[in-house]
Amino acid sequence: MSLKLSTPFPIVAPSLFPNSNPSGIRFSRWGNVNAEQRKVGRSLSLSLAHSSRTDQIRCGIAGGGDVLETGVWWDLNTCPVPDGVDPRCVRPCIVSALEKQIGLSSVNVYAIGNLEYISADLLKKISSSGIVLIHAPCGGNDLYNLLEDWSEDTHPPGYVMLISQDITMVDPYLFRGFGFTNFVVYPKHSELPTLDQLKDEKVFAKEFVWETLLSDNFDEYVRGTLLSDNTYEMVVKPLCICNICNDVYHTCDEACDQFITHLKSEEHINELFNYVPIGCKDKPKHFCEVCNYPAYDEYNLFLHNQSEEHNRKLVEKQAQEEEDCESRKRNPQVDLFNEEPSLERGKHEDAA
Ligand SMILES: [Zn+2]
Ligand SMILES: [Zn+2]
Repeated sequence: MSLKLSTPFPIVAPSLFPNSNPSGIRFSRWGNVNAEQRKVGRSLSLSLAHSSRTDQIRCGIAGGGDVLETGVWWDLNTCPVPDGVDPRCVRPCIVSALEKQIGLSSVNVYAIGNLEYISADLLKKISSSGIVLIHAPCGGNDLYNLLEDWSEDTHPPGYVMLISQDITMVDPYLFRGFGFTNFVVYPKHSELPTLDQLKDEKVFAKEFVWETLLSDNFDEYVRGTLLSDNTYEMVVKPLCICNICNDVYHTCDEACDQFITHLKSEEHINELFNYVPIGCKDKPKHFCEVCNYPAYDEYNLFLHNQSEEHNRKLVEKQAQEEEDCESRKRNPQVDLFNEEPSLERGKHEDAA
């Protein structure tokens, strides 16, 4: 599993909306969705996810009649799938935990965070279980915008569950004002303040431990579901969204592959350049010189620096530099004609 982020370093809560998403996907805005359309762009809303997915979730349909809505926001970066857990079981476990807590509700699960470095295999498994993938790397800033959009279609009473230990997301301020009943899920060894410590902030009605939530609900019901019928697999076509580019992938079975390819594309990186904060000399404030990669903040640069991709490029660059150095020693006169960039450029400053 590629989601091994053992020590997310302290994520400093910046001013809440330093770079407010100017073009967040609106949950309530419906586009005229063309079946063949690969990228739907700004016009499509997450309402699509909202309405098409609810009917497949047992929790939501079993009782009939009006059920309340529950939106689950699962931060894949700080609450990865624990070792030994089948990623396809995560959604049924969440649904089961919610059912025990609040009874029947119509549950939509959104996996959010920086999805660029999560393995394709894992993303596909998560997506195949009916979870919506949203590349939303801007922490609390993105979460607030997504909640705001979601709440345009969903009105209280209803429930919101946040699964994260990103301090910019687990911020009571983000949840006030929407009027939902909120739950929070932390990983086992989280250092975030617990509900007891947040006496003045009665925003979260209950907290759960991520690993325990999964293990407690991974019962015969869940296993039986996965093995006997494929209720949780490919019931509907995948739905994947890049919140940076406002691209929505959903109209075919290959949508998830298209989304994953998109996250590695030049088009996506170029859009990222328009999105990230700029530091001195008009360069992105958080930037990898080796890969020419702009990050939204220090945490995203940390994720980048941990990635296989970055480390491969780093090794290649160092090998190239050594080779250049050797060739200079052999032919010192070459330097007179060759204005190579300084070797120091390749030295990478590790954010960790
Ligand atoms: Zn994108
Ligand atoms: Zn890099």
